[in-house]
Amino acid sequence: SPIPDYLHHVLEVARPNDGGAAAAYIETLAKADTSKMAVALAMVDGNVYSAGDDRVEFSIQSIAKAFVYAMAIEDSGLEAVLKKIGVEPSGDKFNQLSLERNTNRPMNPMINAGAITAHTLVVSPTATLHQRTERILQALSRLAGRQLRVDEEVYEAELRTADRNMAIGYMLKAAGVISCDPQEAVRGYIRQCSINVNVQDLAMMSSVLANGGMHPLTGEQMIPQTSVRQVLSVMTTCGMYDAAGDWVSNVGFPAKSGVAGAIIGALPGQVGIATFSPKIDERGNSVRGVAMCEQLSRDMGLHMMDVS
Ligand code: GLN
Repeated sequence: SPIPDYLHHVLEVARPNDGGAAAAYIETLAKADTSKMAVALAMVDGNVYSAGDDRVEFSIQSIAKAFVYAMAIEDSGLEAVLKKIGVEPSGDKFNQLSLERNTNRPMNPMINAGAITAHTLVVSPTATLHQRTERILQALSRLAGRQLRVDEEVYEAELRTADRNMAIGYMLKAAGVISCDPQEAVRGYIRQCSINVNVQDLAMMSSVLANGGMHPLTGEQMIPQTSVRQVLSVMTTCGMYDAAGDWVSNVGFPAKSGVAGAIIGALPGQVGIATFSPKIDERGNSVRGVAMCEQLSRDMGLHMMDVS
């Protein structure tokens, strides 16, 4: 069929792009097989197409932030979430120690400071680490349509070198943004980052965002429409961190990247997209992933500012 052939073509065009390097600060990610590459599309009608290493698993990393933000809104309410986390692009690195000047909130839920805060708003601010991580694991599994699991090796490895995220946790506690134990908040956040997925899972998950929160396969409303709008908005302005402006002008659909090398994109009413290739650039975005998304956007006319 023409779509898988086209996806193979997308992989081969991006493959010579050899820039970047696997994330070095998490030992297990540094050892990743950087030759692996995959792409998947999940249409809102339920059809899923993929090519390349589409069954290879990797940790979801920061892509979880988008869905955990939706869960925080569902569990704590949008108003409470907005009191704690802003929606402005930071223009800084994803792990910057920063708070919004006048409000003392993390700038947005896509950088680590905001994501650690959002993690604490899942279930309830007094819930245990276990309750939150279980809630997140099961919700992501339902979105993917199969039972996902935590990669304990990735979790342990990231925890060993989590000084910067621990510092962010203590900064949040000192500023009164979170009230729980900062180390527990960061451990829970790192566990949510360590959930293993493949590109088909991610495309399925983002197709729920593309479909207004309704799962294309089951018809179940997984995420309220109002939350989907909120999530896609912050993905558009903040999902690719300090590359957000380049991304919106070149690719033009809401997206989120993770340091394991995956990117998801969601074009409302059309398609959920996922790419995977471990080598990332200095902003933390997969080099070949960005190239593949640029090409998909061009070839399929996916830029949200274009009239189709
Ligand atoms: N677990 C990673 C971290 O907190 C996630 C970062 C990312 O994927 N950009 O550093």
